Amino acid sequence: MRIARYLAHGQISYGIIDGDNVKQLSASPFEPHEVIDHVHPLTDVKLLAPCVPGKILAIGLNYSSHLHDRPGPPVPMVFYKTPTSVIGPGDTIIRPKGTNKLDAEAELVVIMKDSCRNVSKEDAMQHVLGYTCGNDVSARDWQEEDRNWWRAKSSDTFSPAGPWIETDLDPHNIRVTGRINGQEVQSESTKYLIFDIPTLVSFCSEYVTLEAGDMIYTGTPGTPGEMKDGDICEIEIEGIGVLSNPVKLEA
Ligand code: MG
Repeated sequence: MRIARYLAHGQISYGIIDGDNVKQLSASPFEPHEVIDHVHPLTDVKLLAPCVPGKILAIGLNYSSHLHDRPGPPVPMVFYKTPTSVIGPGDTIIRPKGTNKLDAEAELVVIMKDSCRNVSKEDAMQHVLGYTCGNDVSARDWQEEDRNWWRAKSSDTFSPAGPWIETDLDPHNIRVTGRINGQEVQSESTKYLIFDIPTLVSFCSEYVTLEAGDMIYTGTPGTPGEMKDGDICEIEIEGIGVLSNPVKLEA
């Protein structure tokens, strides 16, 4: 099942994707809901980021192809991204004037279904609603210069997510691809994740309560591509779809 969040006639709703249509839900997928008798053609709605996270965790250095000559981390290397950095499909990634290298990081994003704390790897997947495509936009110079990554990873528009949440997906061997202006720059299977999804959910929940709608960006493979003014960046994940965002230099 594909669950989208969308704007239609000035109203934001959640709905189920059904072919070229979206069928409205009576409430968010994180609370009791049913499909109601209200259908829009997808061409008549604006898809939004597929949920509104209370927090976003992101994992660095989680594919060996991204490590190059660096050693792998002994435990997941987790950092935060801000909810205010989230944008949806088709929204514009703003390249700040002050950075001289802005990269796209193609990532599988986990969407949490409900609250959990100290969950085991065995039980972790029961708390996952589904998956979407994400771009962990990264200002490389700020990432290197700053003591933490508050602006390098969380400036406004730095967390594109979408186009919807796919709930029926085995996430452990699907291809994650990043393209800039149609040219492939990253492509790898999630089977090469250093820490898999149950491990990430379990590890994070040892320290923080994971809540419904929280996002976990699971890390990027290979060598990310740079995004410049006027580029179109696409993140495609097998079994989910394509997240596409234009890039614009800050005015
Ligand atoms: Mg990343």
